[in-house]
Amino acid sequence: MKYSDRRECIFKRIKNSYDHPTAEMIYEDVRKIIPNISLGTVYRNLNQLVEEGYIKKITNLDENAHYDKKDMHAHMRCLNCGIILDLEKTMIPNIAEYVEEKSGNRILSQELLLTGICKECRKKENI
Ligand SMILES: [Zn+2]
Ligand SMILES: [Zn+2]
Repeated sequence: MKYSDRRECIFKRIKNSYDHPTAEMIYEDVRKIIPNISLGTVYRNLNQLVEEGYIKKITNLDENAHYDKKDMHAHMRCLNCGIILDLEKTMIPNIAEYVEEKSGNRILSQELLLTGICKECRKKENI
C-alpha cells in the first residue's frame, strides 16, 4: 500500500461525511479498508492534511479534536444526544463577510457553534 493511498483514504473519510469524526473514529473506518494501518499513521496524516489546508481540525466542540471538511459552515451541538450537525450555509448569514465589511479585518476561518436540542430529540422526547 502506497503512502499516498493511505492519505487519500483518510481524506475521503472526512470529505464524504457529515459526522465530524475523531481520529479514533477515522482509524476504525480506515482500518476496514487498510487493515495494517496504525493509529499513529492516521494522526500523522491528519496533521499533515490540516497543515496543508485540505481539512479542518475543530477543537471547540468537546474534549476531543474533530475533523471536518474545509468549507465554511456553522455547527450545532445537541445538548441531549451530543450529535454535531452541520448547518447549511443558507441558514446562517455570512458572518465572515459581514465582519470583514464592518471591521476591515480579513477573516480566514470561522468556528461558530450553536447549542440546543436537535430535531430528532425534539420529536422523540417532546422537548
Ligand atoms: Zn439530539
Ligand atoms: Zn461540519
